[in-house]
Amino acid sequence: MHRDIAEVLFSAEAINTRVQALGRQISNDLAGREAVVVALLKGSVLFFSDLIRSIDAPVKVDFAWASSYGHSTSSSGQIHLKVFPEEDLKGRTVVVVDDILDTGRTLDTVVRRLKEEHGAGEVRTCVLLDKMARRVVPIRADYSGFPVDDVFVVGYGLDFADRYRNLPYIGVLKPECQRP
Ligand code: 5GP
Ligand code: MG
Repeated sequence: MHRDIAEVLFSAEAINTRVQALGRQISNDLAGREAVVVALLKGSVLFFSDLIRSIDAPVKVDFAWASSYGHSTSSSGQIHLKVFPEEDLKGRTVVVVDDILDTGRTLDTVVRRLKEEHGAGEVRTCVLLDKMARRVVPIRADYSGFPVDDVFVVGYGLDFADRYRNLPYIGVLKPECQRP
């Protein structure tokens, strides 16, 4: 285990099992329809790449960048969103994938803008982790991997100051390592 990690919450094996189940659930719901799966950069890329391989339905992939945190561990409330609409999303079924649902501001903003500015049809949301207790905007993910308590986690795509994304598991970052 990395020395900056206080505790492992989800092992690589546990993550893999849960991601496979999410993929099956999404596949069933899509029932053969094609979806555009949009990864929110950068945190969701590991989850996204495993998830799309577990989806048994035709998918196209795209990316969007939503940032609210900068290099701190508390949300600023300001969401900067950049969508890379390689795909025409008009009327399409879109599945937005994020690493973690916290206050809900990011996902809520992204869903609204995909519909209003990009004309997406149905927009579904898929997150690996859900910090329900922290919600400010009332949004629920359609697909959710694991509930988590109000602790700052890193690994499997999740970062602190862009570090730790490469850890194959998800763990709690030691408080003394949560400084810029
Ligand atoms: P929200 O807009 O829901 O407050 O924030 C969602 C974003 O906050 C996530 O995409 C993620 O980037 C960041 N975030 C929230 N909680 C954590 C956490 O515990 N660890 C890390 N690394 N990022 C988090
Ligand atoms: Mg993020």
